[in-house]
Amino acid sequence: GSVWAGVPQAPPDGILGITEAFKADGDSRKLNLGVGAYRTEEGQPLVLSAVRQAEQRLVADGSRNKEYQPMGGDATFCQLSRRLAFGAECPASAAGRIATVQTLSGTGALRVGAEFLKKHYAVKVVYLPDPTWANHGNIFGNAAGLELRKYRYFDSQTRGLDYQGLLSDLGAAPEGAVVVLHACAHNPTGVDPTPEQWQGILRVVQQRRLLPFFDSAYQGFASGDLDKDAAALRMFTSAGLELLLAQSYAKNMGLYGERVGAISVVSHCADAAKRVHSQLCAVVRPMYSSPPIHGAAIVVKVLSDPQLFGLWRQELAGMSRRIQAMRTALKQALIEVRCPGNWDHITAQIGMFSYTGLTKAQCQNMTNKWHVYMTMDGRISMAGLSGARARYMAEAIKDSVL
Ligand code: PLP
Repeated sequence: GSVWAGVPQAPPDGILGITEAFKADGDSRKLNLGVGAYRTEEGQPLVLSAVRQAEQRLVADGSRNKEYQPMGGDATFCQLSRRLAFGAECPASAAGRIATVQTLSGTGALRVGAEFLKKHYAVKVVYLPDPTWANHGNIFGNAAGLELRKYRYFDSQTRGLDYQGLLSDLGAAPEGAVVVLHACAHNPTGVDPTPEQWQGILRVVQQRRLLPFFDSAYQGFASGDLDKDAAALRMFTSAGLELLLAQSYAKNMGLYGERVGAISVVSHCADAAKRVHSQLCAVVRPMYSSPPIHGAAIVVKVLSDPQLFGLWRQELAGMSRRIQAMRTALKQALIEVRCPGNWDHITAQIGMFSYTGLTKAQCQNMTNKWHVYMTMDGRISMAGLSGARARYMAEAIKDSVL
């Protein structure tokens, strides 16, 4: 017998499994609204022109080699990433109080951050919004072994933020607990706090001395404006808090498979930041030694060249606009086909996803009868929709809710 005879089959990943099922479906009307990746109006993946141009320059530069990076990655990349997130005027950054390390996209940033907390932070309790991106639980719970707790986030009645529930759950958190906050474009709900609500969240975080861990996977992708999407992070940093930030370039620069991201830890003094940096590197060393070169080099080119940076911002705004146009188109089509119910939340929500409010049985009908692939919690990726398919989608929703 095999030494692996006792290895059980791992449960399929809820999101990655949808793409497999979609590929296997032979129906020509099929629609994949499960993936968290941008698609053009024609349903194709998009490589941004700014990224293509950056790559061409990198290839043309014969002086580049393939040497290892340091454990923390490219220092210029880290500095530019910090500036992108915290802003050019951030006093904490200017004072050297932020330690940043290049990571394997946002997931890697969360993983390195969680491992750092496990080793060097006294309170082992992590609050996650309910619901949240499913991998948060895997990363903080299974992988880092921290104790997971939920805080109320989504109100299924209003299909908006359960603000009072959120405040009351965080208000009852043990002092010092870690709280994961989606910087913008909350996944899966598409519901974000207003600026006033962020102020209220900041107050309870200060009162309970909670440690915020921002997850920023959609900066610039949500509103089309890089600064606007960083407003909550900057509000908390300006208030003088110590916090963590996981950054991803997967969506906003379309670098999904290149795996480019960063973890930043804000400290009260530069001396602590230096020690924290050394410990972030110490987390990286036994995991994968050092991060890859190519994706980070693309980001450095795009962020440091004014022409490429301007082009990127235009393309970013374009992606965000198309997604918002799909929200409008879907809502309009639902009204046209006389689908029962109120669909205002489709346009009120922000970012790549919409939380439709469809039940599991309704989602199953969407997939089984209409070949529309989506997660069974009712989440659809607006980026997977096109103007040409909005009507079909509305018909499918109508049939499923009736
Ligand atoms: N955090 C959230 C909330 C996400 O939605 C995602 C991607 O879907 C990530 C983090 C990280 O993704 P990646 O590891 O591809 O950067």
